[in-house]
Parts: sequence; structure tokens; C-alpha cells
Amino acid sequence: MKPSLTKEERESLFPYATKEQLDFLLNHVKQGFKTKFLNIMADIKVTLVRSQDVTLVEIEKDASSWILEDYIDYGKGNYLGRCACNRKLRRVFTVKHVVTGRRIDYGEDHLMQFLGIDENILRDIVKDASIIHLELDELLIKIKENQYGYEILEDLDGMEIPEDIQAHINANVPLLDRQINRLYRKLREIERNVRKQQEESLMKALLEEKNRMLQQIEREHRRLEAIVEKVRQNLPPNPTKEMIALQLVFNGFSSTLEICHILIDYFGQDGSLSAGVHKRPRIFPSILQHFLEQTEKGNLILMEKIGVEDCIFIPNEDVNIRLEMEDTIEENNEGEEQLTLFL
Ligand SMILES: [Zn+2]
Repeated sequence: MKPSLTKEERESLFPYATKEQLDFLLNHVKQGFKTKFLNIMADIKVTLVRSQDVTLVEIEKDASSWILEDYIDYGKGNYLGRCACNRKLRRVFTVKHVVTGRRIDYGEDHLMQFLGIDENILRDIVKDASIIHLELDELLIKIKENQYGYEILEDLDGMEIPEDIQAHINANVPLLDRQINRLYRKLREIERNVRKQQEESLMKALLEEKNRMLQQIEREHRRLEAIVEKVRQNLPPNPTKEMIALQLVFNGFSSTLEICHILIDYFGQDGSLSAGVHKRPRIFPSILQHFLEQTEKGNLILMEKIGVEDCIFIPNEDVNIRLEMEDTIEENNEGEEQLTLFL
């Protein structure tokens, strides 16, 4: 802990503050001493004070009514304070009785005897008092240097400001570093939560998207089964797989590969796959050849070759307009080339 300013150094900063600011600061110091002191005394449960060099009235013997009102450190070598026993002091503790208003100045030794506390407790009292002074010094210096730290408030638009920080703002007093750090922590927490919420809503959106997709898949599956059923009902007795395949094209299926899979899944065709890298169904070449023959006869049109993996056919009647504009012979030739590729 860095040393706080001496009493003189501190007081030299007072003129930089307005009266209102100074009232707020000194009142805060007073409240701080009182609160911290009472906390410490509550822990050690001293009930009676022991009079040192003063005579106490009966009511003043109750330890719980005494507060630490002030603590002054005059600095090293400066024995400017005076104990109730008249001894010169560097550090002076002023205790005050809250009922009678009586004040007594003590040095360390007599304070310990008065309160019945040991050196460890005294050290805690000094430490607390020093922290309060350090913060007073921090604020006085910030007032002098016009560093109020209010910039962070702009980032906290709409956020609830903690009571102690709001009190500083209301009194036009700078924010302490620890208060600013607390606000930054709060800001980071808000950012974390926003990020988490964004991630969660993204997950939710993805899940909804997935559900939509699953529903679509399910709808598509039912549509497929309905078409398959329709095709099945319109087939002649003992149809060949080529006949079924052609009917599937006339009922809206266009991928040779997909038609092969439908033949396997719904019409009991051989489901074994070729040994090649593409793992096509073994029935694929004969179905493709049939489609290309139908294309030559003008019943189908080869719309698209997808690499060597698939060929897309549609019924000729679906694209009459297109046929008028395009060279069908070329398409037929293309189909034959494709057949050689597949076979
Ligand atoms: Zn003394």
C-alpha cells in the first residue's frame, strides 16, 4: 500500500475542490471511519472502554457508543498531535461518543488500552483508515487534474448505476479507480451476456431451420411415396424395370440415379452397387441406355449431364417450346456420347 498524503499535503489540495465537493468528500471520510471502525469493534465484542487519563461519565463506559471520528497521520518525524495524556504524537486517533458527543484524542498505546484491543486490531484500524485517506487523496488529485472518469457512463447508457457511484455523480465528484473498474467489469459482463444470448438465439434459429428442413424432407418423402403409388397402379402386369423407370420420368422424376434408387427401394430391383469408384447401382447402365433410346425416339429429352455420375431427363412433351428453339439432334448425339461414358 502506497503511503497516503500527509495532512498538510492533503489540505493543500482542498482549495481545488468546491465547497460542495469538499463537504461530500470529508463526510464520506467520516462515514468511512465510522463504518469500518464499528465493523472491527463488532467483531471483537468489547463491551466497556477503560478510561485513560480522562474521567468518563457512566454512559460513556459503554464501548458500543464510541466511534473513530478521525485519524491523522502527521507524517514521519512530525509529532504535531497530542494524546489525552499530553504526549506528543505523530498519529492521532480521535474517538467520539455518539450520545454525549465527547471527543478524546489518543495515540496508539492509549487507544489500545482504552478499547481493550491488541496491536493486530490496531493495525486493522490503521489500515482501514489509511485506505479511506488514500481514496480521499485520489479524489482530491482527480479534482485538481480535472479527471472525473465520467466517460465510461456514456457506454453504460440504460444500465443501472450502483448507488455509491451515483452519489459521486450527484455530488459532481470524480469516480474512484475501483468504481471505474467495477463499471468496466459490469460492462464486460453485459457484453458476455449479450454474446451468449446471441449464440443461444443463433442456436435456436439453427434448430428451427433444421426442423423446417426435417419437415420439408418428411413432406417430400410423402410426396415421393404418393407418386410411386400412382405409378404402381398404372403399370401393366409384369412390367420391366425400364418400363417403370420411364413412368417415373413421366411422373416428375428426372435423375437417372434417383430413379434407379426408387426402383430398388420401391420396386424390388437389384440393389447391388457397381465396383467402380462411383458406387452406382448395377441397374444404372441399362436404365440410362433405355432413357437414351427413348430420347432418340423423341419421348425424352436429355437435359443435363452431371459429370459421369448422373443424367437428367424430362418428358419431351414438357418442353415443346424449348424444342422449337434448340437442336434436338445435337442433344441426341450428346446422349449417345454420354452412354458410352457410362457403359
Ligand atoms: Zn496517552
